[in-house]
Parts: sequence; C-alpha cells; structure tokens
Amino acid sequence: MSAHRFDPTTLREYDVRGIVGDTLTVEDGYAIGRSFGTIVREAGGKAAALGYDGRLSSPMLEAAVAEGLAACGLLVKRVGLGPTPMLYYAVHELACDGGVQITGSHNPPDYNGFKMMLGHGPFYGAQIQRLGEIASRAAYASGTGGFESHDILERYVARLAKDYRGQKPLSVVWDAGNGAAGPAMALLARRLPGRHVLLNEVVDGTFPAHHPDPTVEKNLEQLKDAVARERADLGVAFDGDGDRIGVIDAKGRVIWGDQLLALLARDVLAAQPGATVIGDVKASQGLFDEIARLGGKPLMWQTGHSLIKAKMKETGAPLAGEMSGHIFFADHFYGFDDGLYAAVRTLSLAASRRESVAELRDQLPVFVNTPELRFPCSDTRKFAVVDEVKARLAGSGAEVSAVDGVRVKTEDGWWLLRASNTQDVLVARCEAKDDAGLERLKAQLIAALTPSGIEPPTF
Ligand SMILES: [Zn+2]
Repeated sequence: MSAHRFDPTTLREYDVRGIVGDTLTVEDGYAIGRSFGTIVREAGGKAAALGYDGRLSSPMLEAAVAEGLAACGLLVKRVGLGPTPMLYYAVHELACDGGVQITGSHNPPDYNGFKMMLGHGPFYGAQIQRLGEIASRAAYASGTGGFESHDILERYVARLAKDYRGQKPLSVVWDAGNGAAGPAMALLARRLPGRHVLLNEVVDGTFPAHHPDPTVEKNLEQLKDAVARERADLGVAFDGDGDRIGVIDAKGRVIWGDQLLALLARDVLAAQPGATVIGDVKASQGLFDEIARLGGKPLMWQTGHSLIKAKMKETGAPLAGEMSGHIFFADHFYGFDDGLYAAVRTLSLAASRRESVAELRDQLPVFVNTPELRFPCSDTRKFAVVDEVKARLAGSGAEVSAVDGVRVKTEDGWWLLRASNTQDVLVARCEAKDDAGLERLKAQLIAALTPSGIEPPTF
C-alpha cells in the first residue's frame, strides 16, 4: 500500500470533513480506515464499529473505510445507516475498541466526512493530525480482518425509550430534517405514550425540506408552524447526524441549548445533589447561576463536543451541554452527545411536572444578549488576535476567564471573544441585564478588537 496525502483542509479539530469528489475521495476513505485502524490496533484493539449517515456519498465511503479497517486486521462490525449516536452506542454495546461514523453532520449535501471514537472516548485534535502522518508514510498495521453486519436500530431505540418517565400524555412534533435520525426518530415516537406528529422522517441526502441544522432559527420554521397547528406541547428537531437537538416550546419559542441544559439539570441534580454540570463558554450566565441554585457545581468549559466529553470523563459530571445543541448525559446513559436521548429526557421533564416547558422556560432568569457573532479572521491571525486582546486586558483589572478565548465579566454582564477551532472566524457574544448594559459591553468588545486591526462585528 502506497503513501497517501489528505487534502490539508480535511483533517480538522474534531472530525475529518471535505467536499466529495473535490477535497474528499474514496481513496481518502480507505486511508482513513487504514490509518485509524492502525491506531486502534496500536492500542490493542481487535474490533471497530462502522456506521454511516443519509448522504448520497456515504455508502461508497463506508465501503472504503471498511476495507481499510479490515486490512489492519480488525473485525469490522457494520451497523449501517443511522445517526452518529447510534454508532457511539454500537461501540459500547458490541464490545468494540473504536468506531467510525461516515457523516457530513449538518453541512451542505456535497460535504461528507468522518467522526471517530477510540475506546469509549473522543478522538480529536492531535490524534486526527496523526492520521495524516501515518498515511503519508504508509506506516499501516496489516492483518487479516473480517466483516460482520449488525442490525442494532431496534435495540438502540429500545435503549433510548427505556429511560422515558412521565405521567401525563404529551403532544409532540418531531422534525428529523431528512437526516440520519429519521428512522430512529419514527421508531422512538411510536414507543412513547402520547400523540406524535412526524416531519421529514424519510432520509434524503438532498435535504429537500430545509437544512438539517436546528441552531439556525429559519430551519425551525416548519416545526414552529406544526407545533402551532397541532397545538402541541413541544417540538423537537435534530441535526443531520442526530447528535444535536433543537427544541420549540408550545408558544413557538426556541429553547436554546443553554436554556435546555438549565431545565434538564433539574432532574439530574435532584437525583445527584452537588454534581458537576458543564456548560460551554458561550452559554448564558443564567445557566451557571441556575446550576448553582439547584445545588449543583457549575463548570464552564471550552466549546467543542470532543473537549466537553473529555472534561466530563475527567470530572465525573453526569450532564453537560453546548449552545449548539450537543447535550451529553452520563446520568443513566453513556456520556456521549445524543439528540434523540436528549429528546427522551426533555419529554420526560415535560410529562412529569405540573408546569409546561414554556412555563419552566419563563422561570429562568432573563438577560438581553447578542446572538453568536461570527466574523472572518484568517487561520494564521485568529488565535493571535485573542492573545493580543488577552494581553491588553491583563493590566486593566478586568475579571477574565481564559478557559476558551477571553470571557470578560463586568458589572453589566459579560462579553466573549474566541477563535473558532473549525472555521476561519472569530466568535463573539455579549450578555447583560438590560439594554444599556448590553451597549456598554458591545463598546468594550469593539474597543478591545480595534488595536488588533479587526473590523468590528456588526451588531
Ligand atoms: Zn451533528
């Protein structure tokens, strides 16, 4: 087997991703299987799980990865089409030493890529760069592997449904956005009590209804309309590979990732008083205050699903979440991000309390905030700009958290500046108690950026 070079843009922080036929080819698929398989073998592994999402190019890439893994001497346990969390589940339940999911997540139809898991932990950062080094030297493990097919969809859905708790029947609208969560979503809804309306449950890699990304509010319009029309208690949506959730309350309002986490923390902290709950650095102060109010230990951590998973393992936190809708339960579950499991727990909350989700949301502290502001900054400059801002703040007496970028706390609230790990952008957000405070925070953010020659974001 000869050496292989990946397009340098494809080996990213948390996954491998590219444009099919352009930066990502079948040859790349084989080399991913072979180089990742080499790492699994090095760690003493014997079996790897393999799954794929609903994109048109996914079956062809799956076949190539399977060949690569088997050529390393691994037994490849193929679980077929399903959401990314079903692959994570397969790694745990089929006694695998790692796994690969073929997925382009929420990206446009011509994208595809790979998410990996080594042992029961995330595979990211320097580990992903190592795939490139191994392939460039063809320093591959070799052996005689094999293939098995496992139909685990029903078993996975039964596991999700097992943790449903609820006294009152709910009316729920579900939207899979024609992504890979569709079939599991339909089976799950059938197992739960209440009335369920399904949208876009048929897998279609062209995403005809809307883009499968519930963090963008316009992708939730169809769900909002259906919640209103059906007079439903709740609407839930998933991203293209089902590891993220979006929630709409009965009034048609988005329950953002940090708000959802604050609500889900109630049951977890009632069962495990004093436990750590992790939120990412973009989350509202209201989340961290709420965790403390519920008797938990709030922990702010870096944005990125792999980083959050690693921090959960380290701290033993039973629950974590991100603004982006990745919600991680180690309470009764495996600690990985699963949008469908998060839906089960959200429905359980709604069905076991006197208050509706809308009422629970209204009990959360109210802040005024900007959305997540993303503005272009070159790959070579983005981390330097954050460091420059950090240095300028050092002498100012400001209260700064440097967990991920800079998050500056003032009398008014806070502002955040961080470099994206996955795109050539800087990310900012401000949150205050009132509008006047928000204006002061925005002015501070702009003042901090200007000396670095950065065009301030438009608010
Ligand atoms: Zn995803």
